[in-house]
Amino acid sequence: MADQGQTSRSPGTFDTPMPRSLQLLPPWLRNQDFTEADLPYLHELLQGSFVDWFEKADGFPWLAGLFMVYHADGSCVAMRSGLEDGGFLPRSGVADHPVPSAVRTALDTCRPALSRADERESIFLRTWDALAVPVFARTTGMACAVLACLLPGGSAQAGDLKLLQAAALHYRNCLYRRFEQMFASGLLREQKLVHKEEKRRDTLFEVLRRLNDHSEVEQILSELLASLDKLYPNCKIDLFLSQDYSSMNERVKPLAFHENEMDLCRQAFLDGVVRDQRLNGFRRLAVPLSGKQGVYGVLRLDIPQSDLDEPDLRFLTTLAGSAGAAFEKAKLHEQANVLVGELRLINDLSQRLNSSLKLSDTFQFASSELLRIFRADFCCILQVNPDKSEFVAMTSNVPEMIGESFAIDYGFVGVMWNSKEPIILSDYSQAAPVPSKMMGVTDSRSLLAAPLVLNGDVIGAVMISHREPNHFSYDNYKLLQVLSAHLGLAVSNATLHAEVRRMVITDNLTGLFARHYLNERILRRQKRDASGSLILCDIDHFKRVNDTFGHQVGDEILRQVSQIIRSSIRDGDIAARWGGEELAIYLPEVGYDITGKVAERIRRRVENETHPQVTISCGMSEWRSTDERISVESLFYRADMALYEAKHLGRNRVEIG
Ligand code: GH3
Ligand code: MG
Ligand code: MG
Repeated sequence: MADQGQTSRSPGTFDTPMPRSLQLLPPWLRNQDFTEADLPYLHELLQGSFVDWFEKADGFPWLAGLFMVYHADGSCVAMRSGLEDGGFLPRSGVADHPVPSAVRTALDTCRPALSRADERESIFLRTWDALAVPVFARTTGMACAVLACLLPGGSAQAGDLKLLQAAALHYRNCLYRRFEQMFASGLLREQKLVHKEEKRRDTLFEVLRRLNDHSEVEQILSELLASLDKLYPNCKIDLFLSQDYSSMNERVKPLAFHENEMDLCRQAFLDGVVRDQRLNGFRRLAVPLSGKQGVYGVLRLDIPQSDLDEPDLRFLTTLAGSAGAAFEKAKLHEQANVLVGELRLINDLSQRLNSSLKLSDTFQFASSELLRIFRADFCCILQVNPDKSEFVAMTSNVPEMIGESFAIDYGFVGVMWNSKEPIILSDYSQAAPVPSKMMGVTDSRSLLAAPLVLNGDVIGAVMISHREPNHFSYDNYKLLQVLSAHLGLAVSNATLHAEVRRMVITDNLTGLFARHYLNERILRRQKRDASGSLILCDIDHFKRVNDTFGHQVGDEILRQVSQIIRSSIRDGDIAARWGGEELAIYLPEVGYDITGKVAERIRRRVENETHPQVTISCGMSEWRSTDERISVESLFYRADMALYEAKHLGRNRVEIG
């Protein structure tokens, strides 16, 4: 009994103070009593009370005897020798002995009884006088037990029965004290449980409220761990999250499936149910952190055995379930936010990429945006040059990369050329050796790269890198994949646009500029330059060439002359097909002296290098900002006049207008 130890022992007296716990009990509790229905359950109580009584009955005058308590059903529940310190005899030892006739009488009559030593009794009893006094229930008067005493045959006095009656009253006190203690401690235990349950419920409510207040995953995890620390201070708590989720909280670890120690957690994670293991003095619980869409991790608790009861298990399961739901909600919220952000970014970027059809602008803008979005150190955008089967670096913030060209199967662009898949590399220095000028020159460790794919063809590639390892995440990888699709489209649009523009300003047959473009360019240059000159060339007797060799050869001659012109002028000079077999060259910021030399060189080369051989006549004109303003038309007019003069003077010569 819980309160047994608190009962003070006072030898030689019947009056022991009521334990404090009993004094506090209300009278209704003290009036609790046994009924007939309780009788089958009284054996242990009768036995325990006998022990209490005997300890308190120390100093009784009839010590030289044997004391017994019989249950109302006639079975002996306890026996004690008062002769010496024989201790309590086990119940089974006494139960075998015949019941003394005094006991039977006391049970039958509900009155005290005495039986003398008698030859007719069993061997064990025949040398003893037996005294028996019924013990009555305190309110119903039901005889629930008999207290008996065996004294050496012939020594029992009539007054002894009175003494035994007094002892029976004392025994009854002990019986009820024990009964009340049992009752009270049962109630107290109940009350404690209710109290604990209430506290648990309050805590759960409070934790749930706080969990739902947070919409960030990190906060939810911290809140969960803090609440558990508070509730189970003696408990070792770990939180394992599946590999998809990483946390800044150092107490949150990845769920490692390969470690044996993690078996319990792995099972809980896979089944989604609480797993339980008894270890040395504590219990290990693996509680899955699950939401509606799946299990996100496992909460592992090593709780001292004594701190854990069944309601704790229910509590922890509910808490982990709620935390799982809150985690899921926050995670979805975060993912939705990221998605919205990414969509906005993609939208912005694609709009701005397409706002300019100039390829160089597109590259420049994309490069600076990629550096910003991925917080990267370096960026390089390459375009495939289909003619030469190579990648050309179109833009980069790494000066060594700009304009560089790479074989189509070189390094990471080569890998993407074949796979058409993006690349994410957490540490270049640890990776299998793939040559990379960009990674090498910049000393980068992290790499994120994506091919620019259009209609299934790789038309270019994006590479961004960072000096630190592990800089890019898998989400970055997915985002770059989407962005590169948009960039691919923008590059293709700008390329097509440039191509159309090139076609519009280029003459098909000769590859020289078209006449209208030459006019535009001269006008533009006249606005900013101080001077410039024009050469008009006309193939001599071209009609004859056509007539002799046919138009196709005539065309070929036109191409040969055009090629000679192209290779005889500077980058900034503009050669165009003026019409028919007349070609024009504009040389910005150049006067007659140099233009004359250029025209002469071209004339000579045509004469020497064409096949079948032709010659050309050239007329030149020039303008200077210091002169009276000269229109494009008059510039041509004067050159034409000079050309006419050249023809007139015998052809294959250069004249000044
Ligand atoms: P010259 O200029 O020396 O006075 O004699 P010419 O024979 O060149 O005379 P003209 O300028 O009158 O003739 C130009 C000829 O060039 C007429 C035309 O058949 C030919 N021609 C013009 N454009 C083309 C072209 O694109 N291809 C070919 N094959 N011939 C062309
Ligand atoms: Mg002509
Ligand atoms: Mg001609």
